[in-house]
Amino acid sequence: MVENEEIVIPGEKVGTLEEVIPGRGTFEENGIVYSMGLGKLRFDIEEMKASVRTLKSPAQIRKRDLVIAVVNDIRNSMVVARVVHIVGNDRQIAGETTASLHVSKVSRDYVQDIRRMFRICDYIRARVIQVRPSLQVSTAEGDLGVLRALCMRCRAPMTRKDNTLKCPECGRIETRKIGADYGDVDLSKL
Ligand SMILES: [Zn+2]
Repeated sequence: MVENEEIVIPGEKVGTLEEVIPGRGTFEENGIVYSMGLGKLRFDIEEMKASVRTLKSPAQIRKRDLVIAVVNDIRNSMVVARVVHIVGNDRQIAGETTASLHVSKVSRDYVQDIRRMFRICDYIRARVIQVRPSLQVSTAEGDLGVLRALCMRCRAPMTRKDNTLKCPECGRIETRKIGADYGDVDLSKL
């Protein structure tokens, strides 16, 4: 089986019946073999068979989606985070993934200093509250917030200790808007 990196689009010619046998993801018409969908073209050299492995179409972020995002900038009244995953959807994300989280949307309680709630590189679970004209998320719901945080001093993943986080390496205590499932989400599978 040879898989070249060639991407074919629906209706694209992949060969003739003299050259290839139409396999999965293809169809034949008047002696020409075409791709049925958007996908990666494969040739089975032994069988002379062409097939197309369909690519999943990318997902769009919608209002009300739950997302997982990584904080990459912190300003006075907001954090900026890159959405890396839509909860319940394993497809790649199309379009804008840079979201802002305003200080007023961090918690139901008044937040004076957003830097006590989030730090750069934190993984957070948040709710999409606006998609256009700009992507905005909220962690005001009680169970939303930080899923994983690294110690500011030694970069070790911190463990939850009541309403704070503690570094198992150096003992440093930090504060966050901690999500209900802090430490329980396998982020390597995203
Ligand atoms: Zn530490």
